[in-house]
Amino acid sequence: MDSNGLIETIGKMADVIIENKQYLTQLDTEIGDGDHGINMARGFSMVKDKLSELTELSCSEILITVGKTILREVGGSSGPFYGMLFQQAGRAVKDQEEIFASDLGQMLSAGLEKVQFYGHAAEGEKTMVDAICPAIRALAAGEGLAAAAEAAEEAAEHTKDYIATKGRASYLGERSLGHRDPGASSFALLMKSIAS
Ligand code: ADP
Ligand code: MG
Repeated sequence: MDSNGLIETIGKMADVIIENKQYLTQLDTEIGDGDHGINMARGFSMVKDKLSELTELSCSEILITVGKTILREVGGSSGPFYGMLFQQAGRAVKDQEEIFASDLGQMLSAGLEKVQFYGHAAEGEKTMVDAICPAIRALAAGEGLAAAAEAAEEAAEHTKDYIATKGRASYLGERSLGHRDPGASSFALLMKSIAS
């Protein structure tokens, strides 16, 4: 897709987050401080408002700009992590006129590297990393966007079985069992909207 296609896709991602504000906040109420949906919806509303100003930019510049807005506006711990994810995804496609579905695995891997560098979360610690990793694996195996989105959703559901050992939910210890991780759930929603 070219810049216009990317802007349209990011608009859809923002819509999905805004539509699920309540759901994500509910998940974060169960094992956190109840702000994930509010944080994400605020940041992605700001992203949506600014998209029309980005039409002259390359795909890489668009992703980096969106990442900066997310970093600044989302807040919490997810703001910096999603901000890094978008910025690194943008850096991974520098100098490309267009981006393709086949680039996404590489883009997410670049983002994941930074998220893990700063957040130190491995798979199984009940964070967004749990949903990002299986999506990358599906893409690396050439399974396509729909399969990657499904893998992320399955993994987000599976976070119910993990005890949180990173982030705010880790304060709950075993009481975090049985609840879905909010960040893994928002990532699964973003992947679903990319695939749709
Ligand atoms: P906060 O926890 O500061 O209130 P949010 O509620 O916006 O921030 O985001 C919580 C989400 O952030 C968690 O559900 C988890 O997925 C993600 N998260 C927390 N800590 C980490 C970490 N160290 N690495 C990756 N993701 C993390
Ligand atoms: Mg929170």
